[in-house]
Amino acid sequence: MAAARTLLKAVIMGPPGSGKGTIAERIVKDFGLKHLASGDLLRSQVMSKTDVGMLADKYITRGDLVPDDVMLKLILNELQGEQLRSAKWLLDGFPRTIPQCEGLLNTIQLDVVINLDVPFDEIINRVKDRYIHESSGRIYNLVFNPPKVAGQDDITGEPLIQRHDDKAETVAARLDNYKKKTEPVLDYFSKRELLINFPGRFSNEIWPRVHTELSRYVQPLQYTEYK
Ligand code: ATP
Ligand code: MG
Repeated sequence: MAAARTLLKAVIMGPPGSGKGTIAERIVKDFGLKHLASGDLLRSQVMSKTDVGMLADKYITRGDLVPDDVMLKLILNELQGEQLRSAKWLLDGFPRTIPQCEGLLNTIQLDVVINLDVPFDEIINRVKDRYIHESSGRIYNLVFNPPKVAGQDDITGEPLIQRHDDKAETVAARLDNYKKKTEPVLDYFSKRELLINFPGRFSNEIWPRVHTELSRYVQPLQYTEYK
């Protein structure tokens, strides 16, 4: 794998609340990739009450996965529609099941899959402190990464909200789905030698390793340090 490549098709994986969104934002900033987050795409469909949004809302609220055919259509449409096949992008939250994984690999050749391997006890403990800026998907954590002004987005000043699927029972359902349906996807990528594992508890501890590793695939624009 040559350094100084300009194209990259990457996937970031990790259990719900593992810091995927946070690490993804950092990757996007330092490597200039486009961030495609399935959860953000779905939430925007829900907000604008499209057919996909109304259907997806029921599943999301229960902590269940949205059906594979709906997800595949939504994501492939996004990847192809924007002609991202020849660009630099980072998929976040997709694929989450073996059928999604097969559907994706039938259409697109991936370069690398980053896996944030964060223990479940850490996740359950910190999802309760998570707040988001709904329209941008920006993520805050009251303990690790608080907004500059309490309750307000740093960039727009708009109010932050707690995701209603971040309630304890829903998080438990999401973790359960992750174990059953998404862990097999990790094995699948691992067998194809696409997977890089990043064990750790905190985003700031994992981030420098992700940056170093990704720099072997694509030239970074910069390195931002977080303390
Ligand atoms: P986090 O944001 O902490 O990574 P998460 O990965 O569970 O947590 P999102 O990726 O934002 O959250 O997804 C929210 C919800 O949207 C999921 O619980 C699920 O209902 C639905 N969803 C998102 N991506 C998919 C997918 N690839 N397949 C099926 N459902 C999905
Ligand atoms: Mg997410």
